[in-house]
Formats: sequence, structure tokens, C-alpha cells
Amino acid sequence: MRDYLKEYPNKEGYFSNYGGSFIPQDIQKEMDKILVAYKELSQAPEFIEELRSIRKHYQGRPTPIYYCNRMSEKYGADIYLKREDLNHSGAHKLNHCMGEALLAKHLGKKKLIAETGAGQHGVALATAAAYFGLECEIHMGAVDIQKEHPNVVRMKILGAKVVSVNHGLKTLKEAVDSAFEAYMKDPINSIYCIGSVVGPHPFPMMVRDFQQVVGIEAREQFLELRGENPDNIIACVGGGSNAMGIFGAFLNDDVNLYGVEPGGRDLKLGNHSATLSLGEEGIIHGFKCKLLKDSLGNPAPVHSIASGLDYPGVGPEHCLLQDLKRVEYVNINDKECLESFYELSRLEGIIPALESSHAVAYACKLAKEKSNDSILINLSGRGDKDIDYIVENYGLGNL
Ligand SMILES: *Cc1c(COP(=O)(O)O)cnc(C)c1O
Repeated sequence: MRDYLKEYPNKEGYFSNYGGSFIPQDIQKEMDKILVAYKELSQAPEFIEELRSIRKHYQGRPTPIYYCNRMSEKYGADIYLKREDLNHSGAHKLNHCMGEALLAKHLGKKKLIAETGAGQHGVALATAAAYFGLECEIHMGAVDIQKEHPNVVRMKILGAKVVSVNHGLKTLKEAVDSAFEAYMKDPINSIYCIGSVVGPHPFPMMVRDFQQVVGIEAREQFLELRGENPDNIIACVGGGSNAMGIFGAFLNDDVNLYGVEPGGRDLKLGNHSATLSLGEEGIIHGFKCKLLKDSLGNPAPVHSIASGLDYPGVGPEHCLLQDLKRVEYVNINDKECLESFYELSRLEGIIPALESSHAVAYACKLAKEKSNDSILINLSGRGDKDIDYIVENYGLGNL
């Protein structure tokens, strides 16, 4: 079989039809510089060693793989979790944020700028900024600021400036627009740290590469536990970084890969964020991908109970993996997600992020069909950030 990770992206940043770079000339120049620096640094022994050391001593890697005793008993298959919720700051996002911030430091940048949805990327980037002594400015939709209050407080405690975005739907998409604008004002001293495998080249590739650690660890750990690869791997997909991280190490193997998108309230436009199931080719935030569009062809409003998943686009590499039929993309709605949030908490004593709960919910469905299989879920983050919102809106879950 082909080696996907070596083959893609091409020089222009394309994963077959998707990806590339659709941005103004002056920003393109900055992206080119970032690409050159990344190519050089990612081969440099000091850079690699520094990142390795950060992962071990600061982030707490490797994160464990855990066998879910009670969930497995209830649903049939052997269900495992890759515990990215135990990564420092509570989600997989620190994996790429520490990489991006290290790159920024080497480029002599003074300020990290980013958007955030659920606040997880903001917290991870504010954490990285504090570690490296850099300024940090996080743009966040006003709706998400309300919903994810604990993360807003965390970012501020970590020393970041939080910019509230008050136009449009006041969620992730608008936050990206706003952060991009801020970056365009001073691309020399600042760097835009994208929060997923999206945006113009080289970000989908760089973020993917920084997330590879998840899959590489998981492969080794699973082999040690079971003497083989998992039969199935499941990850939730917003932009697609945690999924690319864990899928990357298994793309050339005989392992079933499932990406789970948010089915939201239902599959009517505006009520979900199932981009790969229902999107069409388009351009958003400087790259080409499958996209949920409104009647005018612009990015459509989207919804998910999980703020980190409500984005109308998706990483270009996922679009390719779908076309190649290498990964199957499915969806889980808000209600199913919520049930799994409570269930994992009560059966295993692990409170998952609402984003990750989508992957858990699909695992339970799959386990009923494939009771002799092993299933590895990438538990992308912990759910502490979601508990106030959930209790207020849904109570304590009467299972
Ligand atoms: C941000 C986030 C996601 C979605 O981002 P991807 O790039 O699709 O991984 C998933 N889970 C958690 C916990 C997050 O914070």
C-alpha cells in the first residue's frame, strides 16, 4: 500500500484536490517563510529534542491507553481509550500548540494569535505562550464565551488577552475571521497559530505532523497490550486534528478508521456540522475543502452541542481520505453524544469532552455490531469545561 503521509501534501499544499492556499499576497509571503522554517526545523536535532523533552516533562506524555472494563462488558466489543484527556491542559490540542509556539520562538515572533471554539485551543495556546514567554491574543465568539466560561477564565489566568467576537453567529467561524484580521495587521511580529488541520498550507500538514505523536504512541502501546493493531479506531472530527493524529500511524494498515462528525439537532442545514457527509467543494479561510454552504454558496451556519466541532469546513486531508474510502465518516447527534457523556462518566469514572463523546457514542453503536472486535477511541479531551453548560441545560442525566 502507498505511504500516504509521505505522498501528501504536494509542494503547493494539496491533498489531491483539497488544501492549497487562497490568501492575499502579503500573507502568502509569511506562510512561505513559515513553511521554509518548518521544513528546516523539523529536521533539526535540537528542535526535535526540545519538543520531545517538552512532551515528556511538561505535557506528561505518553498518555496511557485504558481498557474500558464496564463499557466493554455492556456493549460487547473490547473498548479502549487513548487518554488525550490526560494531556496537560486537558486535550490533544497542546500537542500542536507546543510545536507551533516552539516554531514561533525560532522565527523570532513575539505574539501568538488564534481563534478558539470551545476554548480548548485558546487554553492550549495560552499555556504554550506562558511556557515560552510570548504574548497571546485569543479571538472567541461571544456565544462560546458564554458557554465555555471556565476556559475563558483559564486563558486570562494564563496571561492571554481574550477578544470577544460579536458578529454573525458569534461562534467559531467568526472567531477565525477576526483572528485572521488581527494577524494581517502585523504578520512580522505575530504568528497565527491555527487550531486544527485547516487553513492555508503549510498548517494542515504542520498540525498533522505535530499530532502524529498520538498515533505513534497508540500503535506501540496497543501492540504491547494486545500483540496486534486495533481492529477499529474512532475519533471525532471538527477540523480533524485529533483524528489525523491517531489515524496517521495506521493509514497503511488493515485497520478500520472512523471519523465522527456532529449530527447536531438533525441533518437540516444549520442544525448540524456534518461537513463530510453533506458538504460540497468550496473555499473557507484560505483553503479548499468540503464545505457546508448556504444558498449563496457561502459557509453555512452550523450547530453542534460541542463547540469544538461546529465548523462548516474540514481538514483537506480528511476530504481526500473520504474520497479514497480509507476512512469512513459517520455522524452522531447531540442527544446520542449527551447520553455517552453521562455513560462514560458513570461506567468508567472518566468525564469526556462533548467533542470526544461523539466518538464514544459511535463506538457503542459499532461495538453492538462487531462484538468480537477491539475498538480504540481517541478520547480527545476531558469534559470539565462542559459540566456547567450541561447541568444547566440538561440536568444530571437520569440514566
Ligand atoms: C477542539 C477539540 C476537538 C476538535 O478538533 P479536531 O481538530 O477535530 O480534533 C475535539 N475534541 C476536543 C476535546 C477539542 O478540544
